[in-house]
Amino acid sequence: MTPRYPFLNLATVNAPYLDEIKEAVTRVLESGWYIGGPEVEGFEHDLGAYIGTEHAVGVSNGLDALRLILRGYMELGRLKPGDEVIVNANTYIASVLAITDCGLRPVLAEPSPLTANLSAETIADALRHSNAKGVMLVHLYGRTAWDEDIARIVADNNLLVVEDVAQAIGARYYGPHGEVMAGAIGGAGAFSFYPTKNIGAMGDAGAVTTNDSELAKVIRALRNYGSDYRYHNIYAGLNCRLDPLQAAILRVKLPFTDKENRMRRDVARVYNTLISNPGVSKPLYVDDFSMVWHQYTVLVDERERFRGFLADCGVATDVNYPQAVHQQPCYAALSPEGSLPVAEEYCQHVVSLPISSCTSVDDAAQIAAIINEYQ
Ligand SMILES: *Cc1c(COP(=O)(O)O)cnc(C)c1O
Repeated sequence: MTPRYPFLNLATVNAPYLDEIKEAVTRVLESGWYIGGPEVEGFEHDLGAYIGTEHAVGVSNGLDALRLILRGYMELGRLKPGDEVIVNANTYIASVLAITDCGLRPVLAEPSPLTANLSAETIADALRHSNAKGVMLVHLYGRTAWDEDIARIVADNNLLVVEDVAQAIGARYYGPHGEVMAGAIGGAGAFSFYPTKNIGAMGDAGAVTTNDSELAKVIRALRNYGSDYRYHNIYAGLNCRLDPLQAAILRVKLPFTDKENRMRRDVARVYNTLISNPGVSKPLYVDDFSMVWHQYTVLVDERERFRGFLADCGVATDVNYPQAVHQQPCYAALSPEGSLPVAEEYCQHVVSLPISSCTSVDDAAQIAAIINEYQ
């Protein structure tokens, strides 16, 4: 039985765009361009214009976007095998998979308990016991992981900044020199258009944004077997191309990113205003696009009991994520259990509430009332 308040329903999310998507897909089917071509180039143009970067490169998915950025830096000699990259231990595993897949070494750092993201303090801590050359800034749950203190520590330590924007398309940093989009803050940004993200394709898709022309050129080659021109391979590359069908679908949805994110913020505002249960700790609320609410995550003591109560009341929930990175079997060697208490605590208590275009503000008010009944 589907719950009264589902966590997410992708058919519902895509319903407003379906007629236009069908037209776009038909256009591709009839065009004869099934790899690369005008839809991919058109989407790259649209994404670069929206994010405000000189380059956007369509790729196969978000993990590949991260891998290609790191590989690109390695081909350019700005990173070498074994170099360390700081990343927060409470991120989604893919952030770290990209680092190890490139033969680089993740330095797991604590998140700030306030934002769940890296902070200048936690980056400084990680630098005290590492010789990191780069930092992967994950804008987790849609919250921009950047401030002037981080900017300073990055500059002082000459760190490469790779943004993991998978959860944060449309997020902004409101800085002293105006507004900067996530994906235009660091050296390069990796986007995922996995169907459940704020802007999702109908299959796998991703992109890299950057103002670095050298890096963009290398990534364009790397995504296509490392070929700079036909039958000439300058790098031992990969096949990580963006499917033109997905590009055509994304061109339909991309212009509505701010609108979709505003709908998410409306739901978050209702949760923030109406949830008053002292046993439920709410995420930091901000009424601007420094947070685009990919997830609305609360912290509770007894997670399973809380989730069970909500499930009985018809509210579906999720957990992002149940384990910190070093608590996964494949990364147990990175850091011993107990060494990252903030990340571990966080992962033990976090619960995500429904937040998407499937959840109306009325639904959110009902869900808040249910949560306030929980004892
Ligand atoms: C989804 C996600 C990824 C990976 O994106 P895919 O397109 O699924 O490969 C990477 N990092 C974060 C933080 C994500 O949420």
